[in-house]
Amino acid sequence: MSKVLIIGAGGVGSVVAHKCAQVQDVFTEIVLASRTVAKCDAIAKEVKEMQGREIRTAQVDADNVAETVALLQQEKPDLVVNVALPYQDLPLMDACLEAGIDYLDTANYEPRDTAKFEYSWQWAYQDRFRNAKLMALLGSGFDPGVTNVFTAYAAKHLLDEIHELDIIDANAGNHGQHFATNFNPEINIREVTAPCRHWENGDWVETQAMSCNRGYTFPEGIGDLNIYRMYHEELESLVKHFPTIKKAQFWMTFSENYLKHLEVLQNVGMTRIDPVKYNGQEIIPLQFLKSVLPDPSSLGPLTKGQTCIGIVARGIKDGERKQFYVYNICSHEACYREVHSQAISYTTGVPAMIGAKMMLQDKWRGEGVFNMEQFDPDPFMEALNQHGLPWKVVEEPVEALN
Ligand code: NDP
Repeated sequence: MSKVLIIGAGGVGSVVAHKCAQVQDVFTEIVLASRTVAKCDAIAKEVKEMQGREIRTAQVDADNVAETVALLQQEKPDLVVNVALPYQDLPLMDACLEAGIDYLDTANYEPRDTAKFEYSWQWAYQDRFRNAKLMALLGSGFDPGVTNVFTAYAAKHLLDEIHELDIIDANAGNHGQHFATNFNPEINIREVTAPCRHWENGDWVETQAMSCNRGYTFPEGIGDLNIYRMYHEELESLVKHFPTIKKAQFWMTFSENYLKHLEVLQNVGMTRIDPVKYNGQEIIPLQFLKSVLPDPSSLGPLTKGQTCIGIVARGIKDGERKQFYVYNICSHEACYREVHSQAISYTTGVPAMIGAKMMLQDKWRGEGVFNMEQFDPDPFMEALNQHGLPWKVVEEPVEALN
């Protein structure tokens, strides 16, 4: 018997609500809260129609700690699932501490005025969560999230030591729009335009955004796509928790069309995150841009094709160098049929539900602030197969990605 409070009613929040509703024996009561309660109500209606379950809704401004604490004290959930935006991570962690509730999120904290994300802010909550005997699970989406669990699985079952890690995220789908992002446009564009960092021989190496790319052949008919090296948050926790890793890189596919539009938007200043005066009012160009771009949650019925996200781990097994690829392929159309969402929101929302399930069933339990790879990967991997994100392991010839 557990009650979960989901905060954030966007593309990902909708999937979390649907997937929790499907697992009735664990999530006996579900409340969905967001800044705009009408969005929660629309999701609740759809969950009732598609999953046959009633979920309750509430309005909350998660930037306001006192307001969130009041909601937590009224609802008394066992767990808060934060699928609002990274800006809300710290206020929501503060609210959970004050109300004595466990916490889970899918993306690490970013300050609004700097396009920079790192775990330091959230890891700084370690003692407060431990002293309060509470648990915070960070980054329970796909990447970060499943990619961390795949790495923990490789370290447990496939290799004695991981020496090199490549995380490769392909969206081989198409939504037919001139330009649209698959998750929150502001967060997506901040991430993609940030300088690239990868880990090499005990240090971070910084390079210009999108300056390193190469071809990569994806499995199961997806075929050849260009992958671009960029910084991604799970690199930081993975090299900390697996100190044998000498080199760690994150790669993502982008279409020529996406990159062309992004370049123009950057060149004309539309991706700026500093305020500019417009008609006597201060606006942030990137936030204005978000307001005119398609809402990611509207892309569900339009998106065709597949995603393929996985890790390539290279290292030593019984004294021999080996390479393994662990990946999931997810169909945009199948996600839409199941929960009315495209695969990017689905591949984030399902692991958020599974992370919550791990915590509520005490399969993953601890006091303090944790990253996904710190727990036993096996029950999570089993749950991925049960809840719509099946994975495969393939042994490959050893070949570095440069
Ligand atoms: P959306 O923009 O679609 O949804 C965000 C939701 O959060 C909206 O409903 C929004 O408000 C709500 N929200 C924003 N600010 C507040 C606030 N102050 N108080 C309450 N609610 C608020 O984003 P997505 O669903 O695409 O993404 C959600 C999260 O998932 C993001 O943090 C993103 O970074 C993360 N993510 C993680 C991935 C992973 O693999 N780990 C991949 C993709 C996304 P309103 O109700 O007004 O609309």
